[in-house]
Amino acid sequence: MVNKAELEQKLKKLAGLSPEAQAKAVKTLFTSEELKFLQQQAMHSKQPGKCIFCAIAKGEIRAKIVYDDAHFSAFLDINPANPGHILVIPKQHYEVLPQIPDELLGAYMKLLKILAAAVFEATQAQGVNIIQNNGAVAGQAVPHVHIHIIPRFENDGIKLNWDAKKVTDKQLENIQSRIVAAAQKLAADKAPKKEVDELKKSKTKIEKIKLKKRKP
Ligand SMILES: [Zn+2]
Repeated sequence: MVNKAELEQKLKKLAGLSPEAQAKAVKTLFTSEELKFLQQQAMHSKQPGKCIFCAIAKGEIRAKIVYDDAHFSAFLDINPANPGHILVIPKQHYEVLPQIPDELLGAYMKLLKILAAAVFEATQAQGVNIIQNNGAVAGQAVPHVHIHIIPRFENDGIKLNWDAKKVTDKQLENIQSRIVAAAQKLAADKAPKKEVDELKKSKTKIEKIKLKKRKP
C-alpha cells in the first residue's frame, strides 16, 4: 500500500527542486509502488502538465523506450496485449488524433511503418494490429494521442472482433451521404481545390454505383 502522507512529503520535496534535479530525483525518491500509483493518478487526470505520456516524452518517468526523436517517442506498453506491444506518441500533448497538426502526420505514419516492421521482425509475429482509440468511450485510457502496435500470433486469445449490427441498405446509404458531406466540408477547409474536386468526383462514382444497383 502507498502511504499517502509520505508520498505528499516526497512530492513537496520534489516541487522544491530545479527541473533537472527533479528529473533525477523522480528515479530515486519514489518506490516503484508509488510511481505506479502516481502513473495511475496521472492517467485519470485531464491536465496536460500531469499527463503520464508527457512525462515519459520528457524523460521524467522511466519507460522502456524503443524509439525517440524530436517529435515522437515509442515505448513498451506496461500492460501489453502480447510481448512487444508498443505505444507510439507525439511528444507534444494532443488529446485526440484530429488535434494533431497536419505537418506531423506524414512523419507519424512513416514512423508507424518502420516500427510495425521492427515489432514484426523482433517478435517473429505472424501479424500486427495498429490501433488508435479516441475518447474514453472508445477505450482511450490515457488522454494523450497514442497508437498501439500489437504483434499477433495464431491463437493468442486477443479479442478485437465485434458482433455486427443489423443495418438496412437505406441506413447504409443515409450514413454514407452524411459522412461524404462531412468529409467534403472538412477537406474543403484545408485541401487545395483539386483535392475537393477529386472527392466530388468520387461521390459521383458512388451515385453511379447506386443507380446501377437499382436496375433489376
Ligand atoms: Zn500528454
